[in-house]
Amino acid sequence: MLVEVNMQLTFKYKLKPHKPQCKIIDQTIELCRRQYNFRLGERFDWYDSTRTPINACPLNVSILPVDVIYQNIPEFRVQTRDGRKLDGNGVPITKKGDIHPNIVEGYVDWLTTQLADLKQTKQIFPEYKEIHSQVLQDVVNRVEYAFSRFTKPDKNGKTSGRPRFKGKHYYNSITYTQLTNAHIVKDERGRICLDLAKIGLVPMVFHRSIPNGFKVKTGTIIREADGYYVSLVIEDKRIPDQVEAEILPTEENTKGIDLGLYHYAFCSDGTEYDVPKFLRKSASKLAKLQQRLDKKKSDKTAKSYRILRNKIAKLHQHIARQRLDWQFKLAYKLFEDCDVIAVEDLKLKNLIRRNRAKIDQDGKFTENGQSAKSGLNKSFLDAAFGQFVNVLKFVAWKLGKRVIEVNPSETSQHCWNCLNRVSKTLNDRWHDCDNCGESLNRDENSAKLIKRLAIVGMDVTSLKKAITKAEAIVIEEASVLCVA
Ligand SMILES: [Zn+2]
Repeated sequence: MLVEVNMQLTFKYKLKPHKPQCKIIDQTIELCRRQYNFRLGERFDWYDSTRTPINACPLNVSILPVDVIYQNIPEFRVQTRDGRKLDGNGVPITKKGDIHPNIVEGYVDWLTTQLADLKQTKQIFPEYKEIHSQVLQDVVNRVEYAFSRFTKPDKNGKTSGRPRFKGKHYYNSITYTQLTNAHIVKDERGRICLDLAKIGLVPMVFHRSIPNGFKVKTGTIIREADGYYVSLVIEDKRIPDQVEAEILPTEENTKGIDLGLYHYAFCSDGTEYDVPKFLRKSASKLAKLQQRLDKKKSDKTAKSYRILRNKIAKLHQHIARQRLDWQFKLAYKLFEDCDVIAVEDLKLKNLIRRNRAKIDQDGKFTENGQSAKSGLNKSFLDAAFGQFVNVLKFVAWKLGKRVIEVNPSETSQHCWNCLNRVSKTLNDRWHDCDNCGESLNRDENSAKLIKRLAIVGMDVTSLKKAITKAEAIVIEEASVLCVA
């Protein structure tokens, strides 16, 4: 069965709003933040007083009876013109006047209930009338998303943490969910602008045009340290999403890459690319600024505090951009002489997980290596391997090439040539195999092994088993021959 997924890209542009427009955007973001916190609170009130964990006796019993919690929620609601559900092509599924139940099988259908309740909000707080309805509805959708990630496990059985109420510096964007190409227009002075309802024509730096055939779907206005940006999601329905090029990995066309901290990337052909130093340089600058900020913590309202905080935010932004730029350059370089790149399937989460606590005979906590690892964790985050793998995949898609992710377990502990286990600690930088005499840099050994695994399409253990099995058959055949 062919699943129709459309090609989606995100293009980010700098916005140059006028001063009054900045004020409107800031005001809208602030009102949306309050709305977000209010809607989240509504959900928590219900959740905290009605839930009962499965297999457990509830320790916190609801003070309010359930029907009291439900009393403010009408049983039915009437569909208005706003908030109709649309299918993928923008055709409304529901129409004005439809009657929907708010409580389905004993559970509140929160998304539609809260969407319908926005009308009430606008009546009580008239300032919400100044916000475009799509933007306000998107706030409720964000709450729904955060809450469902918290209560319902995803396909891996994992849930994310309890959603947080957002402080002023943690809510920085609003989304127009139904933008089109027609919203990019020229104003009377000939500048290219984004036509945003309730805000007006916002001049934008249109540094790259929308590719032919792509349609603008949504636009998110983001407030960053150095101003405002818009992130446009564009879509082409003719191109299926991220079709991986069907290239079979072979000895000649494949390159294995080991990502690490001593060398950012070590290739199976022996070339190495070092960890970019600019991050370390900026880090010391950042640390100095942070120290100065800590001294000023006593008066957070002071102008000097705000200026310094903004400086730090800008530096963070600068570092992130430098890193991304460098990663793109590296990705193109790596693909210069190969068609397939094999990398470890980074479970970065596992890498940065805390070490298990060690308890000695007296019941005291002893050294578990966490302090050493914390330094390592920081470097891992600095290096942003997860982001790099995504960049690699994007570049591969653009070039019609391929990235294969292999199971990383044991790749640093085995000899790439004979699969003999050579145990190493993090400090052992050299790989010496007693079995076949292979002697090379440990990262190069890993890279070569990763390449080999990608070509056969197995992980270390299954490859080892397959080889032992093949050897056993050979020996068996030989013994049969001897007997004969
Ligand atoms: Zn070996």
